[in-house]
Amino acid sequence: MINKETLSLLVKNDNLPAFRVKQILQAIYKEGVEDFNQITTLPPEFRKKLADEQKLYCFQIIKKLQSPDGKTVKALFKMHDGALIEGVLMRFKDGRNSVCVSCQVGCGLKCAFCATGTMGLKRNLSAEEIFDQVLYFNSYLRQLAKTQNQGKGNEKGARVDHVIFMGMGEPMMNFDNVTLAIEYMNDPEYLEIAARHITVSTSGIVTGIEKLIQFPLQINLAVSLHAPNQKLRESIMPVARAFNLDQLMASLKEYNDKTHRRVSYEYVMLKNINDSDTIARELAALLKDQNCHVNLIPYNQTYLGFTNAGKTRIDAFKNILESHNIPTTVRVSLGQDIDAACGQLAVKEGENLV
Ligand code: SF4
Repeated sequence: MINKETLSLLVKNDNLPAFRVKQILQAIYKEGVEDFNQITTLPPEFRKKLADEQKLYCFQIIKKLQSPDGKTVKALFKMHDGALIEGVLMRFKDGRNSVCVSCQVGCGLKCAFCATGTMGLKRNLSAEEIFDQVLYFNSYLRQLAKTQNQGKGNEKGARVDHVIFMGMGEPMMNFDNVTLAIEYMNDPEYLEIAARHITVSTSGIVTGIEKLIQFPLQINLAVSLHAPNQKLRESIMPVARAFNLDQLMASLKEYNDKTHRRVSYEYVMLKNINDSDTIARELAALLKDQNCHVNLIPYNQTYLGFTNAGKTRIDAFKNILESHNIPTTVRVSLGQDIDAACGQLAVKEGENLV
């Protein structure tokens, strides 16, 4: 990411007028140029200087995988220290272009069903490293639209308009960098993504939820619940031992009361673990009278020994929740054919590269 302060200095040092800053911001963040040399509105010498001395992204793109239908694109990014992270672009039928970003290298929370958890936590990502994942996919979409619409002049809509923090890492364990990256994404001079289209997903870090209540932008909160009682939850999510279910539900009530924003619960459907009718009724009781929404997630098979509950079971679970007036959806699962489950690509590549 190259920010406006840095650009102002570069422009000033070259004795160029201030409007050049706006031109560069426009080219990078709105038009999605992938090389400074593409900014043809700039004087050629300055353009070359930028290309020689500055970088558009703070990482290298070392792999890009695309599903056969082109709806899912997954990229593997290599950081300055060699760390690998991944980001996924999902292009939905309704026109949404959503990017799932990583916020840490690995994750220290070790959820039993998650490939990233097996890596452990290597480090937090900086705000720039988080932001650049979204910028990369935004530029990808802008360039793709230009190619597809050549001569037609209609590239409207080809941009990232939704972001979800559901890649590698726990956002609440990297709160300051995550919220700074969100401010950049939302900034009209950068990507101008509506705050209400940005979702932070937590495994239930209560201290982070409390801080989020104070965050001024109206972003969404999703909570990876995955179990309606403490015993089951802590058996698949060790984080539940640090922040138990009662504490978690109390903090979410406070979040709801103070922000008046609906909480989304993510619930991964694991065969014979958390998918029975009894558990569905228990979940309905836990969420009774809450302003919430449940998103059931078909499990992307990994090597960790868990199995997807299957469509019939997921539908039955959904029906029970809905019969208790709990709005419930089943997540459209994109990209299973390209290792789109959280952490899978980076874990595989890490094994090959380290
Ligand atoms: S599911 Fe999320 S919180 Fe749990 S180990 Fe994986 S990345 Fe970490």
